[in-house]
Amino acid sequence: MLKHRYIKYLMLAILVGIGLGAFMGAWSAWFLFLVAGLWLAITAWGSLDVRSNYFTKVYYKGEAFHPQEYALTFDDGPTLHTEAVLNLLQAYQMKATFFCIGKQLEKYPELAKRILQEGHQLGNHTYTHSKNIGTFSTKEVQEEIACTDLIIKKLNNENNPIFRPPFGVTNPQIAKACEALNKAVIGWSIRSLDTVIQDEQRILTRIIPRLAGGEIVLLHDTTERTVRVLEQLLIYSKEQNLRSVRIDHLLKINAHG
Ligand SMILES: [Zn+2]
Repeated sequence: MLKHRYIKYLMLAILVGIGLGAFMGAWSAWFLFLVAGLWLAITAWGSLDVRSNYFTKVYYKGEAFHPQEYALTFDDGPTLHTEAVLNLLQAYQMKATFFCIGKQLEKYPELAKRILQEGHQLGNHTYTHSKNIGTFSTKEVQEEIACTDLIIKKLNNENNPIFRPPFGVTNPQIAKACEALNKAVIGWSIRSLDTVIQDEQRILTRIIPRLAGGEIVLLHDTTERTVRVLEQLLIYSKEQNLRSVRIDHLLKINAHG
């Protein structure tokens, strides 16, 4: 597995070597651009692919799991659509994890309480969900996470162990912040694209053929469309004897102290 810290030193060494070579006329400067380009490409992949494990360990699938258990996860809430999501989960007796934005938790505390009362898990999805999270300093990322942790602690009196970075972006700053705050970074194995694709059937065909034990499904409790998709997923799950469980259960992650 490629690791950011090893690649960084290896690439630096190669670049210095080629740079010196080019300077002395032994190498073409084009090699320098080639290696620099390769480095950029690996870094971009490490930042944007939530499964790369390049900057930090990301849990994106259950390993030691019950063959019938998978995890539904809902990002960016709570919103006015969270209630319908909770009603469905209750009707089908399934558990899920909600990666909430701190600001949204402050806006809808009653929904946050209902999520917890009904046995679902709350996870941290930063305080503001800034589009610029990839440019934040370690301290800024830490503040985003710590602030939302505090809101969660006020709700359930527990130290929240799980974090999902907005857009699944990881980089050295986010990795350091998660390490400092002892967070398990949670990705996904099935990305529904429910906020991008308009057609419900197309969203379902991205999910259903891959739905099996251990999978982590990324959804958003932010639109009516997702509520309708969820109902179909729950019907399918019942038929197949599959059940959604909380992330801590799927990944055997316990709340830290
Ligand atoms: Zn998000």
